[in-house]
Amino acid sequence: MTGNAPPIIRLNEVTKTYQMGDTTVHALREVSLEIAAGDFVAIMGPSGSGKSTLMNVLGLLDTPDSGVYRLSGKAVSGLDEDELAVLRRETIGFVFQQFHLLPRMSALENVALPLLYSKRSLDLESAGHYLEKVDLADRVHHRTNELSGGQQQRVAIARSLINSPRILFADEPTGNLDSASEKEIIALLKKLNEDGITIILVTHEEEIGRQAKRLIRMRDGFILSDERLEDLQGNAISTSLPLSRETGASFRLLEFAVHLQQGFKTLAANKVRTALSMLGVLIGVAAVIAMLALGQGAQRAIESQLASLGSNLLVLRSGALRTGGVARESGTTTRLSLEDAQAIRQEIPGVEVSAPMVQGRGQIAFSNKNWNTQITGAGPSYARIHAAEPVAGRFFTEEENRKRLRVAVIGATLVQELFATANPIGEMIKINKVNFQVIGVLPEKGSAGWRNQDDVVIVPVMTAMRRLLGKNYVDSIEIEVASREDLPSVEGALEELMISRHRVPPSQQQDAFRVHNMAEIQQALTTSSRTMSMLLASIAAISLLVGGIGIMNIMLVSVTERTREIGLRKAVGARRSDILIQFLVESVVVSAIGGLSGIALGWLVTVLLSMIAGWTTSVSPASALLSFAFSASIGIIFGIYPARKAALLDPIEALRRE
Ligand code: ADP
Ligand code: MG
Repeated sequence: MTGNAPPIIRLNEVTKTYQMGDTTVHALREVSLEIAAGDFVAIMGPSGSGKSTLMNVLGLLDTPDSGVYRLSGKAVSGLDEDELAVLRRETIGFVFQQFHLLPRMSALENVALPLLYSKRSLDLESAGHYLEKVDLADRVHHRTNELSGGQQQRVAIARSLINSPRILFADEPTGNLDSASEKEIIALLKKLNEDGITIILVTHEEEIGRQAKRLIRMRDGFILSDERLEDLQGNAISTSLPLSRETGASFRLLEFAVHLQQGFKTLAANKVRTALSMLGVLIGVAAVIAMLALGQGAQRAIESQLASLGSNLLVLRSGALRTGGVARESGTTTRLSLEDAQAIRQEIPGVEVSAPMVQGRGQIAFSNKNWNTQITGAGPSYARIHAAEPVAGRFFTEEENRKRLRVAVIGATLVQELFATANPIGEMIKINKVNFQVIGVLPEKGSAGWRNQDDVVIVPVMTAMRRLLGKNYVDSIEIEVASREDLPSVEGALEELMISRHRVPPSQQQDAFRVHNMAEIQQALTTSSRTMSMLLASIAAISLLVGGIGIMNIMLVSVTERTREIGLRKAVGARRSDILIQFLVESVVVSAIGGLSGIALGWLVTVLLSMIAGWTTSVSPASALLSFAFSASIGIIFGIYPARKAALLDPIEALRRE
């Protein structure tokens, strides 16, 4: 039946059955068949007789249930899916009744598609060459939906030829065409056969079948008859199989670039859907950025305020004396005095500074301007302890304090309200109608929560007590300790000293004084602000997660919609990894673009919030980088499931899907 060359195709008792509910359909029943290289075989038979099943088995798109299939002498049953994909693209061309062209691509790109999987590039030049061969040189840049059926089928034939196949399978290639196009296609196939390509053609038309060199008729899954119509010439091209078997993951930059370009195209074709799925990631990333910035801003504000307070600091205040758990009338609290401060400094070892302080409010006047502000009476050590060395002028000295001189250091808000642009140093102001000379301006500190730290005037504590507030007691005593290790011992000694000095009865010692340890307060504040910003960021991260789920949803829809495209890509030689990468690239592109826009939006929100609410915020490059990386990984993580789903599709199943 064949010439002296070994047959390129040899089937031995191949069966294929389909289970449809409880009936078994025998699509192929122990079919044995040999086809020589260079032959032109027509397969005919009634619908449902197993022609397509036979073609799909021969074309490595489907695997038989039993029997042996040898392609060029090599049994293909042991090959895995990727090895089959390589064999398909190197040796086989497929032409389908439904053309299966990709609608968003030009004729040229459709023809070049298989090269993406064999040569890792869309070599458009050689694609153009094959389009010329099928007489479509003038339709190169047309989209496939702008072509007639006959032209589309010719594009499909050019595509099947681009990897120089040895065998061309055509399953009713003219089934959807008019008779003129039918003639063109058959003439084309005959010419390809003359060039040495083995052609296997399924057709319904007796007239076409009779033009082949060999005519096989099928019925109910077996071969009914087998006629030789024309002798074979020995013009077949070499029948040896290609040795290249690059079935491993061969990921290359060029391939990635092509996937990227195609990914952009697909995404651009579904603009609304793409935009919506980006929106999820965008909002998520923007939220993370803004929340992190707010949190960090708040944390930094707290830290800078705390840093301006020495950490070796204890603040002593009087507490309410209680009788029977009820606070007594006012005036009966334990009051601190200047002498207490002096005793603390002299009697407790380890104490460096013991500075009495008073607070009050007062009316400040300069020329015709008035301003109500906070008055702080402090010692000269205040500037150092509170990091408040004047930016202009100087702070007052111990001597000025002792002499109760009327000198004042004012905050930035006062400068603004009373002096505007004039230099306040040396000017006389009235505090509660008493004349004071301005000798210094405090550095700007901003606001701490609701309190404006710059709206303050600081005067010597003695002056404040006697001349301004009429107090013969102090409100608090700030105690600075030489080293942090001394804090606990000093704290204990402090309480003992005060209790003995004020003769507090044992029952009330608990509440008589309050000692604030700044180091502890500092730690507590820092921890709670950190917790707060972590909380904010994790809420934002949840929205990013939701965005990721949105992407997964869209990608799953996309996979379902493009099932036939996936089948076609596999039929022309795409391996699982190719499909996987294609879909991953798409979801990563969506989430990366969403992520970048999210960073921009988050930054904008941060800037606006800082401006409108006057909050201290800052976007750190690290948080921008982090959320971009996070959104890109969201693309990978949530893209993997849909992409895997696509990659694992069975090629022939996928092609059949509506
Ligand atoms: P032909 O191409 O000759 O019309 P097919 O090879 O497509 O016939 O089908 C042969 C038989 O197998 C038919 O009875 C058909 O219903 C059945 N068949 C083909 N594919 C499937 C499938 N995926 N699932 C179930 N039955 C199938
Ligand atoms: Mg069929």
